[in-house]
Amino acid sequence: MSKIKVAILGATGAVGQRFVQLLEDHPWFEVTALTGSDRSVGQTYGEVCRWVLPGSIPDYARNMTVLPTAPGFEAALAFSALPTDQAKEFEPKLAEAGYALCSNASAHRMWPDVPLLIPEVNPDHTALIETQRRARGWKGFIVTNPNCTSTGLTIAFRALHDAFGLRRGFVVSMQAVSGAGYPGVASLDALDNVVPYIGGEEEKVETEPCKMLGKLEGGAIQLAPIQLSAHTNRVSVTDGHLVCASVEFASEATRPPSPAEVVEALEAFKGPEIVRGLPSAPRVVIEVRPEADRPQPRRDREAGKGMTTVVGRVRPDPLFHIKFVVLSHNTIRGAAGGALLNAELLVAQNISIP
Ligand code: NAP
Repeated sequence: MSKIKVAILGATGAVGQRFVQLLEDHPWFEVTALTGSDRSVGQTYGEVCRWVLPGSIPDYARNMTVLPTAPGFEAALAFSALPTDQAKEFEPKLAEAGYALCSNASAHRMWPDVPLLIPEVNPDHTALIETQRRARGWKGFIVTNPNCTSTGLTIAFRALHDAFGLRRGFVVSMQAVSGAGYPGVASLDALDNVVPYIGGEEEKVETEPCKMLGKLEGGAIQLAPIQLSAHTNRVSVTDGHLVCASVEFASEATRPPSPAEVVEALEAFKGPEIVRGLPSAPRVVIEVRPEADRPQPRRDREAGKGMTTVVGRVRPDPLFHIKFVVLSHNTIRGAAGGALLNAELLVAQNISIP
């Protein structure tokens, strides 16, 4: 098959660079456009991008000219790594103009007709695309992936909700500095420090999992009735968001699952058949570490090339039922890799990409 032409919007940022990296030699997609702000437009990617990932800028991108984020660039699908305000402004215009948008931004995640998607969790929610196109009269559409902290958590929650039914969760995150983009958090705030506030983050972590774990009924998503309370913190780690979670299960009549049963459910979780063969799908969706002191960001964030969710420290919780720790790579699984897997799912589901 000929490759689908794709653009990366906001290609010079922390997430944009991950897209540039992950799309090098992709079997289904070919990058034909990179966009940026007025600061970068008209210059080559090599000139304007301060590359912060290991290695060098991939050759294919180095001499591409950065374009404005406006309809007219050559691509059928656009991966958006735009900041929220720019996403609010540009993504609907691009969808209206006929592009298929796979967005990382939070701007449209909670719109009722926009899929908030993790392929292993809720691939059926792509049915909203038709509703969205019809209601808005768009030739294209917007699909989003969740906040980087919600991502790993929701993958673990999917396995546990399916197996035992979740009722409540209390979560505390320790989030890497790359989650704030580049240059992100000033070194005088980040080094030797923990910042116990990330604007808007707790609301996202408390709501996004309920949309993804919700059921699609009559063309709309019924939010999953799970109560979540989140504390979110910025810590001095480069990549990888760690979340400590305590959960209560819904099974009133029966005994709650033991830690061993929870581990079994997490390890057995494979996601739906259609996702397993996708080019960016991890072979292991959830890896459970048996050691007392894992997962750790520096040691475990590259699991499954950054696409595997790593869980550990599964144990009884005296207030809830079970507590555990979840690690997910924020710029791969929680951003560019997640959006890329979403786009691959759209292709596998034969959703027409304009
Ligand atoms: P970032 O490092 O600050 O990068 C922002 C990018 O947006 C830059 O490439 C910048 O281009 C571009 N930009 C700014 N204004 C623009 C405009 N008017 N038109 C086109 N491009 C414009 O931010 P980031 O961390 O990559 O985050 C990007 C998005 O992903 C955000 O919505 C963020 O919330 C979301 N997200 C981030 C993470 C993460 O772990 N970092 C995870 C999940 C979701 P110039 O360099 O040309 O100015």
